[in-house]
Formats: sequence, structure tokens, C-alpha cells
Amino acid sequence: MTPWFDPTQVFIGGRWQPCAGGTTLPLENPSTGEEIGRIARGDHRDIDAAVQAAEAALQGEWGALTAAERGRLLLHLGQLVSEHFDALAEMEATDVGKPLQQAKNDVIALARYCEFYGGAADKVMGETIPFQNGFTVYTLREPHGVTGHIVPWNYPMQIIGRSIGAALAMGNACVLKPAEEACLTALAFADLARQAGFPPGALNVVPGLGDEAGAALTAHPGVRHLSFTGSVGTGRKVQAAAAENLVPVTLELGGKSPQLVFKDADVDKALPFLVNAGIQNAGQTCSASSRILVQRDRMDEVTERMAEAYRALRVGPAMADLNVGPLISARQKDIVESYLSLADPSEVIARGEVLDNAPKGGHYVAPTLISGLDPDHRLAQEEIFGPVQVLLPFEDEEDAVRIANGTAYGLVASVWSSDGGRQMRLAKRLRAGQVFLNNYGAAGGVELPFGGVGHSGHGREKGFEALYGFSALKTVAAHHG
Ligand code: NAD
Repeated sequence: MTPWFDPTQVFIGGRWQPCAGGTTLPLENPSTGEEIGRIARGDHRDIDAAVQAAEAALQGEWGALTAAERGRLLLHLGQLVSEHFDALAEMEATDVGKPLQQAKNDVIALARYCEFYGGAADKVMGETIPFQNGFTVYTLREPHGVTGHIVPWNYPMQIIGRSIGAALAMGNACVLKPAEEACLTALAFADLARQAGFPPGALNVVPGLGDEAGAALTAHPGVRHLSFTGSVGTGRKVQAAAAENLVPVTLELGGKSPQLVFKDADVDKALPFLVNAGIQNAGQTCSASSRILVQRDRMDEVTERMAEAYRALRVGPAMADLNVGPLISARQKDIVESYLSLADPSEVIARGEVLDNAPKGGHYVAPTLISGLDPDHRLAQEEIFGPVQVLLPFEDEEDAVRIANGTAYGLVASVWSSDGGRQMRLAKRLRAGQVFLNNYGAAGGVELPFGGVGHSGHGREKGFEALYGFSALKTVAAHHG
């Protein structure tokens, strides 16, 4: 897998160039632990140059385009993404360590985000507002200006698609700081945007460390809106930096998302969702379902069926395309293993299997299903970010809501039940940004607004809602009396 661009450079003002400090960071293949290349270690100087290039783009060619022209560029970019399907999938699989099929799904999602936001760019409208005689009042949706985007390593393509896609559609000029652990597809995306004909400075990409390039971006006074996806701890710092400059911020943070299985559920239908939502991308998914709440009447049955599914899970290198790949890093593996050490061996119901021939340097952890814990146990409260699910029994609807809402997070929840009244009641009562009824995740749902409450963050990305977030509303009141 050799990228067609030079990943040791930053992309600023439509040009590839060495970073100001001239130094690089290693990029590791999580499936083997080997170094697969180097990326630029951008810092505050590169961020400053990127913000200046973005400002110049807004004053120049990019800022002069019509909404329809911006949409057309995004549609062209989506086409180029699809034309580079195999290269992007292999790059993401190698860089993130996710099984190849999951990386392919991410390429499809990235192309779809470009298509969705390309099509939407010229369909965001203001309103006219009935007011006093002698006035005509209307609203305009305008770009914020330069938007800063900080993304994590777990789903680079999907998160870039939803965040950059919506921001460009609304006419913002973007500065993207991808994660130091995995950022090849972010750089590929920048080059494809160049090929698609985006004017210089509309999209700038500066890889680097979080507390160097990332912190410089959040503190830059030229940035008018911040979009951050990542951990709660970093989210706090980003919000504090945004407060300093008084700019709006979208925080897409973590979760401890529950699936609620009632006694009238179709367990045959639920089963693959119950398991996949926990092990997809080795559990390194913000909306992973790490808690499975089951009504006591069906606890034994669901436990046994999930255990059987777990025993069949195979773990190995990304390109072997098994159920589960490695974790992103040795550090992430240590974190997950230290969580697992909190469980008594009798509480471990079933584990998947790491293949004997999986490379020894890879960061593999066997998926683990745990039961018998109190809902207040750390394993049932904290985001582990690994392939670990906890089964918790409940007595009735009231008990289910209490347990489901009993963490600091509120990202996603699902209800498995054939009772329509219960579905509607719980859709209202569950504390989450998205509630799924008899499904989980809606296959990615590019069109569906996404985000959390509580420690899962605030603001919404994806769907049309993101277009409102990436624009500022202006009210115009004309007096002609
Ligand atoms: P992280 O917060 O460590 O890093 C995320 C990004 O922030 C990286 O690009 C990093 O370089 C940057 N960063 C780090 N320190 C910074 C600082 N001081 N200032 C500015 N930027 C800084 O998160 P992570 O461990 O890489 O990602 C995992 C977390 O992300 C999990 O908690 C997961 O739930 C969350 N996540 C949420 C969503 C969502 O949509 N809600 C999606 C994916 C991941």
C-alpha cells in the first residue's frame, strides 16, 4: 500500500509542502506493530498558515462560488472517492487496523456524504417572517468563515465526510487536523479535493500531535467554528479553548450505549445487532453498544445465544477480513486489558479467538462478553473502547429506563420490543441523541442527525441538521413604510 501522495507533507492553500518544523511522526500498522510510513508533525506555524490560506480562499475564488457550484465540486469529489475505492479501503484497513470489509463500508459512506452534502448545498433556505406593517423580514444562512475540524483515528473517512462535507457545502473554508495514529485517508481526501477542482485554501489538512497542532487550531483567533470528535477529556479542553475565543463548538464524544431487549422482542432479528454493535471496529466506535440490557424472563436465552456468537468470533489482521481486527495501539490494548482485569473470571461468559497466526506485534484482544455485574460497576459505566460487552438484567420498563439512563453518557440507545406503545414511550424517555427501534445504527445513516447529550457531547452532525450547525443565521429587517 503506497499512497499516491507524499504523506510526510501538509496540504495548505491547495499545495503539498513540508511542515514548518521539517519533522515527521511514525505511522504504525496496528495489525503488525510495524512502521508503515511517516506523517508530518505540523505545529502552530502550519496551523497559522492553513488558517490564513482558508481566509484568503473565503475572500477569493472559493467565497465567490454559488451554492450550486460548491455542490457540484462535492459531487465530483464523491465520484473521485468512489473511483479510488480499493486504494482508500486498503489504506484505511492498514492504517486503522479495521477488517477490510468494514473499511470498504467507510469508503461507501464517505462517497455518500459527498453526494448528500453536494446535493444539499443549494437547498438550504432562509425564511420570511411576518412582522409589523412597513417591514419585510427574512433570514439568511451564511458560512461561519474558517472552520476547524479535529477528528479521531477510529473512523477517519466517515467523520471527515460528515464534518467537512457539511462545512464545505455551506461555504466555510476548512482546516482539518486528523489524528496522529491514523490519517492517511485524510491526506488522500485532501488530494482528491485538489483533483476535484476545489479552489486553493477551501480545504487544508495539517497532521500533527493533539497538544501541538490540535491545540493550536482550537486556540487560533481566526477560526470561527470548531468541530471536535474524540474523547471527553480532550473535548473539555476544546470547549475551553472555544470559550476563550467565543466561538461555537460541536462536540461528538464517547458513549456507553445500551440496547434494551424486552421479553416480547424478536431475538432472532436482534441477535446480529446485539453482537455486531459491540465488536465492529474492535469496539472502537463512539456509538458502540457496550451494554445489553435484557428483561429477566429472557436473560438466559439471550446470554446463551450471544455467548455462542462470541465463541465463533475470529480476530486477526485487517487484511484477513475477519470479524475483528487489532486495537489501534499498544496503549489502547493496555487500557482494554486493564478494564478486563476488573472482571472476576466467573463473570466472563464467552470470548472470541485470536488466530494463532496473527502477527505477534499486532494489538489483538479477544472479544469478551461479561455478565453478573452491578449496573454501577466501572465496566458497566465507563467507555472501554474495545470489544467488550456487558449483559445486565432488568425487571420491567421502569427498571430498564433507570439502568439505561444511569451513566454520564447519552449517545445512542435501542429498544427491541414488538409493543408499539412501549417503543414510543421509551423513545421519549431514553436519554440519547439517537434512539433506534428494532434496529441499531440504521446502517450508518448519513441522512440522520447524530450527536449526544451529557458526556457524549452537544451539537449535531450528519443529515441536514449539520448544515444548520455549519452556518450562522442572519436576520434582515427591511423598512419600506
Ligand atoms: P482524543 O480525544 O485523544 O483525540 C481525538 C483528536 O483530538 C485527535 O486528532 C487528537 O490529536 C486531538 N487532540 C488531542 N489532544 C488535543 C488538544 N489538547 N487539543 C486539540 N486537539 C487534541 O480521542 P481518541 O482517543 O483518539 O478517540 C477516541 C474517542 O473519540 C472515544 O472517546 C470515542 O467515543 C470518541 N469518538 C466519538 C465519536 C462521535 O461521533 N461521538 C466518533 C468517534 C470517536
